[in-house]
Amino acid sequence: KENIMEVKGLHKRFTSKGITVKAVTDVSFDVKPGETIGIVGESGCGKTTLGRCIVRAYDASEGEVFYRTRAGEELDFLKVDKKKMKEIRKEIQMIFQDPYSSLDPRMTVLDIIKEPLKANYPKMSKAEMDQKAKAMAEKVGLNPMYLMRYPHAFSGGQRQRIGIARALVIEPQIIVCDEAVSALDVSIQAQVINLLRDLQKELNLTYLFISHDLSVVEHISDKVGVMYLGRMVEFAPAEDLFEKPMHPYTEALLSAVPVADPTIQMERIPLKGEIPNPANPPSGCYFHERCHYCIDKCTTDAPALTEMPDGRLCACHRAKELALRGFTYDEGAK
Ligand code: SF4
Repeated sequence: KENIMEVKGLHKRFTSKGITVKAVTDVSFDVKPGETIGIVGESGCGKTTLGRCIVRAYDASEGEVFYRTRAGEELDFLKVDKKKMKEIRKEIQMIFQDPYSSLDPRMTVLDIIKEPLKANYPKMSKAEMDQKAKAMAEKVGLNPMYLMRYPHAFSGGQRQRIGIARALVIEPQIIVCDEAVSALDVSIQAQVINLLRDLQKELNLTYLFISHDLSVVEHISDKVGVMYLGRMVEFAPAEDLFEKPMHPYTEALLSAVPVADPTIQMERIPLKGEIPNPANPPSGCYFHERCHYCIDKCTTDAPALTEMPDGRLCACHRAKELALRGFTYDEGAK
């Protein structure tokens, strides 16, 4: 399948009071239609900024995002003019983290779901909008009897369903889910993830699923990108990444995920120190101060995201060597 999206060399810098913070540095990856790309990392790693640059809620500082529209046009999404943007914006929607704050408390649920139709199809009749909004509410499992109520009358899981219906009512191709289930209880998380998967199959949606929670990402993603301090350090099929991480940071992140079966729990790998200040990142490999495998070269040379023999991408000078011999702390490390 051809790619539906190609992110190439994306950078985002924020400057405030003379201080520049590199929130996203040189991130590249491809997305095929109908697949889910998970983006993981600790808070502050740049994953939300990356998502926002991709939907153009933020303007990227550098880079390209090639997007294939439903009509088959291929364009650099970051460079299209306002008119074109309005036309294609509806094809790329976002579902937010907090269903409590992203819904207007003064609007009925029906009006909330209809809002994107009003904004994008001003000539559509009220009857057609009502019919489309009700059909979408039903598809996401909301009771059509309750659509004249206000968001506060709904539980967290139902509010996230409202957010999903609002994003889907204008029939997008790509959905960026930013911590879309993080505010929900674990049992409700599973229901919403199952709903997202069912909708994906039915509507042929492509997801970019941003989350700090690896166990959530594992359940929904086809491929996973791991971010650290604004850079992507590993990008691999989900199965490969979870079974055999290649980057030392991925290894440490995975070791911290609790698993139900204690016999397969990895030994927890404590990271050294804290996440560095993104306004003043370390030289060389951004991870070197916390890495158990750091060698001299890592302190001066930034490793590029490079294709490994199994096809995954990894940004580590020692990735091939560590993958071959397995991760064991070595005496040569600094
Ligand atoms: Fe660790 Fe060096 Fe690899 Fe960075 S490049 S992750 S410091 S071994």
